[in-house]
Amino acid sequence: MSDTTVRHAVKPSLNLTLQGIAGSPGIAIGKAYLVEQEDVDVVEKRFVEPKNIPAEVRRFKQGVKKAQKQLQSVIEEVPEELRDHTYILHAHMMLLKDKMIYNGTIEHIEQENVNAEWAVKIVVDKVKSIFKKMPDPYFRERASDIAHISKLILENLLGTGHSNISYIDKRVIIVAHDLSPAETTQMPLEKVKAFLTDLGGQTSHTGIIARSLEIPAVLGLENGTELIKTGDLIIVDGSAGVVIVDPDEETLARYQERKDLFEQYQAMITRSSHLPAETTDGFHLSVMANIEVLEEVVSVIDHGGDGVGLYRTEFLYLNRPTPPSEQELFDNYRDVAEIMAPSTVTIRTLDIGGDKFASGLQLAEEMNPALGLRAIRFSLRSPEIFETQLRAILRAANLGNVRIMFPMISEVDEIVQAKRMLNQTAESLEKDRIPFRANIEVGAMIEVPSAVIMADILAREVDFFSIGTNDLIQYSLAIDRVNKQVAHLYQPLHPAVLRMVQRVVEAGKEAGIQVYMCGEMAGDPVNLPVLLGMELDAISMNPISIPAIKMLVRMISLKESKLFLEEALKQPTTTDVIKLVQDTYGSSFPKAAFSQPNQD
Ligand code: PEP
Ligand code: MG
Repeated sequence: MSDTTVRHAVKPSLNLTLQGIAGSPGIAIGKAYLVEQEDVDVVEKRFVEPKNIPAEVRRFKQGVKKAQKQLQSVIEEVPEELRDHTYILHAHMMLLKDKMIYNGTIEHIEQENVNAEWAVKIVVDKVKSIFKKMPDPYFRERASDIAHISKLILENLLGTGHSNISYIDKRVIIVAHDLSPAETTQMPLEKVKAFLTDLGGQTSHTGIIARSLEIPAVLGLENGTELIKTGDLIIVDGSAGVVIVDPDEETLARYQERKDLFEQYQAMITRSSHLPAETTDGFHLSVMANIEVLEEVVSVIDHGGDGVGLYRTEFLYLNRPTPPSEQELFDNYRDVAEIMAPSTVTIRTLDIGGDKFASGLQLAEEMNPALGLRAIRFSLRSPEIFETQLRAILRAANLGNVRIMFPMISEVDEIVQAKRMLNQTAESLEKDRIPFRANIEVGAMIEVPSAVIMADILAREVDFFSIGTNDLIQYSLAIDRVNKQVAHLYQPLHPAVLRMVQRVVEAGKEAGIQVYMCGEMAGDPVNLPVLLGMELDAISMNPISIPAIKMLVRMISLKESKLFLEEALKQPTTTDVIKLVQDTYGSSFPKAAFSQPNQD
């Protein structure tokens, strides 16, 4: 999606079009409600006399305590439909006492003789900048969590009020600079037609919550709060990331029609989400879910997921001074495995590294963290952390249908070493007489071009491949997956990407192993015809994308998608591939299946 653009149209209606990031699909039409927020960034530095330092430290501690109480009461009042998301608020509670922030602020007050507000600002800015440099968008977004908790503390220290949005009395479109999870969950959500924020991206909490509640959202508008006023009539197209302020009659009618179509489509896919994804000629494609926290399992089941194709296990390692214990990991993995059983749960070992730890395990800063000590490279260099996780996975595998996969494999040696560690771990569990499953399926994520080239050899070492297109596209097209400047070049249907995926599938099939895909590419309907033609064994995606994908699978035959793939592979450019998809399936797929950002 391109940068924020603003274009003016004819009067009398302004028809002001803003382009942001598509945060949650759907169309909403309604009046804007601007959430004013106190600007707590303006904090003054004051010197505090040494004799008053203990009192200043106490004042800071009281500010934190009050923030904890405020969050606790928000947690207690979270409405039923948002219960799944209280983990975010619990994480904020933990963050309030994070060593780097809490102890760091106290030390700063004591060492620099400054007021608590200033110390909070200095320490938090430093921690935020560490997070902001992280390569993974999920972790980068966590800088906003730190901003939210520091805002709470600062408001308490400064005695300023909170933006109170709980009194909204009519159905509105919420427009905010940023929304903390506490603010989002406190809202009377039945009154919220859509969310718009200046900050945030697809992986921000507002996006995550909006998607799970199926409320349209456009994020990252940058200056939305400057251009929109309370009471403005606006159209929100959460699928395309477009907002139209003060639309004219014709635009309004067009979007009303699209809104109706989208709602009919939603109703249709929801009704059929629990049917198997079987093509008209009987080929069954497993449609699974990607999850990041245990609580999302409910959403997988609700959306008809055939299992968990990717459990990203990083979350439990964040915001804490030491890595989680074997027991904590085991409890978590066991819960996921038991709830999903008999369906499969694919646990990916830790994909963390560079400077991704907020505290505790400090690693060297890297010039190119995406090319640095991350994922399997980090795990092989940190055998204790790796072994703890492997033990927990092998134990949980005894209680459900669990398979394991290793991220960022770039050479055969890595998979050999990882498997050796896995075997040693199994031996040690055996020695300790702890129940575990020995014959767990082992997979390699294929997300580095060297792994694509070596797929035939790698296939001898594993039971399955899972193609991680988020990274594979980044590394093969040389497009930083989080850089907005080159986002328009990030093309899943790039002919080179298609050829690589095809090569991996062929190598896997040749070796008689299963091949899955778990990158975002798998969840976008526009990519489905080619993926189906490749005859992948399973595709895994964000749980909310599952119903639409399953329905589309049921509308095509494997035979025709294979012929389609043949044609697609002949195309010289991404544009040609997309055109082929539109020409072939544009009229037979429901119109709402393809988001159409450029239609206007
Ligand atoms: C991928 O790279 O496609 C993938 C699924 O892993 P992640 O997005 O967690 O890097
Ligand atoms: Mg990846």
